[in-house]
Amino acid sequence: MSAKKAYEIAVLANRCKECGLCISICPTKVLAVGSKPNLKGFYATVPKYPDKCIGCKLCEYICPDYVLIVKEDGGGKSIGRVIWNDEVDVYEG
Ligand code: SF4
Ligand code: SF4
Repeated sequence: MSAKKAYEIAVLANRCKECGLCISICPTKVLAVGSKPNLKGFYATVPKYPDKCIGCKLCEYICPDYVLIVKEDGGGKSIGRVIWNDEVDVYEG
């Protein structure tokens, strides 16, 4: 049996304009509206359930503002990172 693939979902939080396209298109409901406003006052998308990610990149392709970057990441457990100016919020599970 092959190991489950793992992914890193990175969110460049200050680019997000909270349009919701990524949340709507994600087939496995990884993404959600976050609870912190970005520099533009929008509540940036967060990769709330990274372990559900299947690496399809639909979120990356549909985002008009290049907020999301999805990469295959070694194996093991997937992880989400929300990158702000001076800190990174990490989502696991
Ligand atoms: S790559 Fe696919 S499964 Fe993963 S968060 Fe984006 S839309 Fe969802
Ligand atoms: S990450 Fe992109 S697609 Fe998703 S809500 Fe923000 S601007 Fe819209």
